[in-house]
Amino acid sequence: MNFETVIGLEIHAELKSKTKIFCSCSNKFGSEPNANTCPICTGVPGTLPVLNEEVVNLAIKAGTALGCTINKYNKMDRKNYFYPDLTKNYQTSQFDKPICSGGNVEFEHEGKHIKVRLNRIHIEEDAGKLVHVEGEPVSLVDYNRVGVPLAEIVTEPDLRSVDEAVAFMKKLKSILEYGEISDCRMEQGSLRCDANISLRPVGQEEYGTKVELKNINSFRELQKALEKEQRRQMELYTYGEGHKVVQETRRWDAAKGKTISMRSKEQAHDYRYVVEPDLPPIIIYDEQIEAAKNSLPEMPDAKRERFLKAYELTEKEVEILVGDKGLAMFFEKVVGFAVAPKIAANWILGDILRILKDRKIESQDITIDAENFAKLLKVVEEGKISNNVGREVLEEIFDENKDPMKVIEEKGLMQISSTDELEKIVADVIANNPQSVEDYKAGKTQSAGFLMGQVMKLSKGKANPKLAKELVDKKLSEL
Ligand code: ADP
Ligand code: ZN
Ligand code: MG
Repeated sequence: MNFETVIGLEIHAELKSKTKIFCSCSNKFGSEPNANTCPICTGVPGTLPVLNEEVVNLAIKAGTALGCTINKYNKMDRKNYFYPDLTKNYQTSQFDKPICSGGNVEFEHEGKHIKVRLNRIHIEEDAGKLVHVEGEPVSLVDYNRVGVPLAEIVTEPDLRSVDEAVAFMKKLKSILEYGEISDCRMEQGSLRCDANISLRPVGQEEYGTKVELKNINSFRELQKALEKEQRRQMELYTYGEGHKVVQETRRWDAAKGKTISMRSKEQAHDYRYVVEPDLPPIIIYDEQIEAAKNSLPEMPDAKRERFLKAYELTEKEVEILVGDKGLAMFFEKVVGFAVAPKIAANWILGDILRILKDRKIESQDITIDAENFAKLLKVVEEGKISNNVGREVLEEIFDENKDPMKVIEEKGLMQISSTDELEKIVADVIANNPQSVEDYKAGKTQSAGFLMGQVMKLSKGKANPKLAKELVDKKLSEL
């Protein structure tokens, strides 16, 4: 029997507000453990939350960017459960009246236009973080993350393959990034998702039993976890002999590369949702929605259109550049320094991407500034240094954002473009390689290539290749 995969995602994005959702603690990542805490976010009895207006506005912005309906009346609810990282024993979230409903995300995938419907976006507070000390029987708790504002974005089960789910996440990330709604630093956990997956026989309308995979925080893990779970379910359907897929929550263990059962899926009533009595309903005004709309910068789809029109780049190049906000911004800055777009794109998609990957740096943190990079591209274009030397210089200047001209001068890397100087080198090479010269005369024209190689070698790669070739050819024809 043939099966079809059905996937729906629940994405948690930390909102980029200055302070936490219900108190004035800083919402900054990477502080000393428990530095960003106060009696409100650590849940001291008797304290009262105050809703951060910036969080509401960021959620409206997300809803606007994703084509949702903004619910002008919405409210907060308590979701009760116990866990040591949850200070109040309940999470203040939204249950039946979320801030946004509906909406969708559209993208192209393998030549197909895909539209994924969103069910809702609600706002809630994040929990703290347990740090399990390796090799010791202790766990520490860091409450800096308690009360960090989250938008939970829930899709309908509209995704039909693992690759599609990954492509969806990439598109959603770029929308949240461009919209300046979330930092989307997946490695820091500011964008993560729970992935729900089920299989059903092709042609069957009814969905199969789903399994939820918790807390996935990279595209790679999303891909691997879903593939693994898809195979597990497929095997159960094919050879299960009575063992069924049961509805449950499984944890993806990245180190072991497999999913592990955590608990059978809880139902909404297990959480004993109750209206948050300490916060009034949230009323949203038309002007607020209008302001959110106007505060959205150029979004990915618009940028893609503009790039395709403005620059002579292939669709693939535009796709990769625009898919990554940091790269797209850097590209436009470089072009702003009068570098030809094609050349800027070639270097950014080749060398810059490679360096970022090697050094494990996010594109938004590119250390070299566009001006220094543009200077380097210009000297390469003018033929003053070769592509290869240009690459070496880039490695050298990248981390500390050095001036490429200084490095080129200090190391004497300028190409030899003076005819006098090159003629000497060519003459030496011809004199030192009589056998190759004989071969050439005997009709073995590939000897010219060898001699050319020797010229490059003797000049330590600095000979202007075009000029050198002319001189070698001239010299040989004179023999
Ligand atoms: P629950 O009641 O278990 O919370 P929901 O209907 O609220 O389930 O859906 C939660 C998430 O699971 C959504 O992202 C939804 O798209 C996804 N989902 C629902 N049913 C399925 C299914 N059969 N297969 C895959 N994903 C599903
Ligand atoms: Zn606080
Ligand atoms: Mg649900």
